[in-house]
Amino acid sequence: MMKKYEGKRYYRIRATVFWPTVGLFILLLLGVYFKDELYEKWLRSGGMEDVTFEGLTSALEDKASCYLCGSSDYSLVDLFRKSGRIGVISLNDWYVLEFHIKSRDESVPLSEEGYRTSTFGNTGEIIYSSEGSYSGKMASIEVTLPEDFRLQTDILENNLCQECLDKVTETLDFRKWRYEEKEAIPLCLVDFRTQEVYSLQDWHKGCLIRDYWVEIEHEGDKVSADVYDVAE
Ligand SMILES: [Zn+2]
Repeated sequence: MMKKYEGKRYYRIRATVFWPTVGLFILLLLGVYFKDELYEKWLRSGGMEDVTFEGLTSALEDKASCYLCGSSDYSLVDLFRKSGRIGVISLNDWYVLEFHIKSRDESVPLSEEGYRTSTFGNTGEIIYSSEGSYSGKMASIEVTLPEDFRLQTDILENNLCQECLDKVTETLDFRKWRYEEKEAIPLCLVDFRTQEVYSLQDWHKGCLIRDYWVEIEHEGDKVSADVYDVAE
């Protein structure tokens, strides 16, 4: 109902409607104010869970063409094996990057040393940059992942032998809140000499690979790794 008092409008509202409305409004304000905290609380209410890719089965028939331990023309791992360095593999397109550190192997010709250089590019899957220091003792690789990255397991299953597939999937384990939307980072570190692979998931901050100390950093969709040659 509406009445006019000296040109001003007044509304009549039942107290039983008015107070609940005020109450709701206050709740709404509080909700907006504490939105982040409430979301965080909800996220944590489900507890943590481990995500693992265990149990993938290799569909590769010819073991000799395994992307990691074999000699496939489609994998640069075979080519980099000679240098004995370490690198990064983008698992969704099997793009292989090498750290530009000076090779300790005397038999590697200077032209193939590949340090003191920087390379960068876009594979269609990742954007990367890789550079080495003047001394050849330090190098870094930075990878920017696509916004909605998600590990595609079929390329691994189709191109890795079972042994290598197990090694790679082991590096992909990570933990998350049960209600959190989080994907495995489709990258790993690789030692070209031993063909061992190491995690680049966000919990992994660093490791020693032979005489190379690796420091890993994650920021948004960027993953960067710095390598230091710590040999005496
Ligand atoms: Zn293999």
